[in-house]
Amino acid sequence: MSVEERLQDVRDKIAKAAQEAGREPDSVSLVAVSKTFDADHIRPTIEAGQRVFGENRVQEAQGKWPALKADTPAIELHLIGPLQSNKAADAVALFDVVETVDREKIARALAEEVKRQGRSIRFYIQVNTGLEPQKAGIAPDDVAAFVTLCRDDLGMQIEGLMCIPPVDENPGPHFALLAKLAGENGLKKLSMGMSGDFETAIGFGATSVRVGSAIFGTR
Ligand SMILES: *Cc1c(COP(=O)(O)O)cnc(C)c1O
Repeated sequence: MSVEERLQDVRDKIAKAAQEAGREPDSVSLVAVSKTFDADHIRPTIEAGQRVFGENRVQEAQGKWPALKADTPAIELHLIGPLQSNKAADAVALFDVVETVDREKIARALAEEVKRQGRSIRFYIQVNTGLEPQKAGIAPDDVAAFVTLCRDDLGMQIEGLMCIPPVDENPGPHFALLAKLAGENGLKKLSMGMSGDFETAIGFGATSVRVGSAIFGTR
């Protein structure tokens, strides 16, 4: 299958999963995760109408997206990987959505850069639903206080929550927990689900799914 065919296949599966969950197909946004793939691999998906993309490294994204965005201004770029505070300025300059706000230091650095650059960036808070020591994210018990800090004290436009469930566990309970935490904190967006589990995530209320290998192939 070509990359266009795989993209269409993912779109069809999203629509079907939404329908089965009694939701509108367009209530789920597809973030096409293009990390490790170069501009020539990405371009056919833009031509096929894809506009929302995810990258996990600032430096890699800086190498390919300014030119692609110049050609297609409607592109919306999401940062879905961990961010160091010395890269906050670059991230704010290039990305439209940062999904990985995962600690106070990075929240403060991002908030300051948004003000300094006058950019309008939307944010997600990454939640470590599995309390995995090696994984980034706010612990579920600390989400309410962290949302308050980001939204009320730092004035950040917090749109929703994001999670990456532990690889060796049934993702359902993690998606359910993220949905519950979003509801408790008045957040409407849920970024959850990847190539292996996006249909499950849609059943639990995902408003965006981050799909890489099912579209672009194995990395
Ligand atoms: C790479 C990545 C994805 C996409 O993973 P696939 O399994 O290739 O769909 C989604 N979310 C994050 C945070 C990632 O780093």
